[in-house]
Amino acid sequence: MKKDPEDHRPRLLALELTRRCRFNCQHCRADADRTADAGEMTTEQWKKILDAIAAYEKCVVILTGGEPTERSDIIELAQYARHLGLRAVMATCGYALNDTLLASLKDAGVLALSFSLDGATAETHDAFRRTPGAFDTVVKAAQATRRAGMRFQINTTITRTNLHEVPAIAELARKLGAAVFNPFILVPTGRGEESIRTLTKRSNGMAAATIEPFNRRSPAATRANPIARGKRRDFRIVTILSARGRTGRRSR
Ligand code: SF4
Repeated sequence: MKKDPEDHRPRLLALELTRRCRFNCQHCRADADRTADAGEMTTEQWKKILDAIAAYEKCVVILTGGEPTERSDIIELAQYARHLGLRAVMATCGYALNDTLLASLKDAGVLALSFSLDGATAETHDAFRRTPGAFDTVVKAAQATRRAGMRFQINTTITRTNLHEVPAIAELARKLGAAVFNPFILVPTGRGEESIRTLTKRSNGMAAATIEPFNRRSPAATRANPIARGKRRDFRIVTILSARGRTGRRSR
């Protein structure tokens, strides 16, 4: 059925629950650090927002930040979202995840997680995230998520520094068991506003060319790429980078 063009109800909403995060990524839209904003909202305030969202549309809510697991009420908020009929997913950098927390998130109704992976090696990823050990952290988090039986996707912010690694990152995402590989160019906000020119101004065209083979809507390109051929039916590559390399995307 064709969507009514006047229907502006959201399909998904990202809820930035906190600005706290132990990573220090150069492109961070939230300009996150280890301190909470003075005005960080309370559990009850977020519940009121969830009430309002659910009354308007039972959409997907992305629990994000900063790092959403920095909130001690994260399970309570996920449970509340489920209670309202909202579908909760979580964007996390993974450092707090372990088998126990994953089981709690799953029980609370969190349907899937997303991780950022910006390099196929620790050297590239850790440099991008300006956090030693970030690569090992996300790999372990992905492995634990798979063990927990939860779906996850891998997001990759393409820059000049990691452009050549994109096929290897996609392959790593597949090996880790990701359901989706989602490469994109970020919207320059927060810390990214300063770094985006250096990172992507000249690389847009190259990035589009690199990503094009992953575009499963292109039969020729799909034949050219073994991942996109889809040997595993549960592994999907989402290309939101346009051929002109202009499609932006919020990043964390
Ligand atoms: S981009 Fe994400 S992981 Fe990196 S500092 Fe910001 S909130 Fe933390």
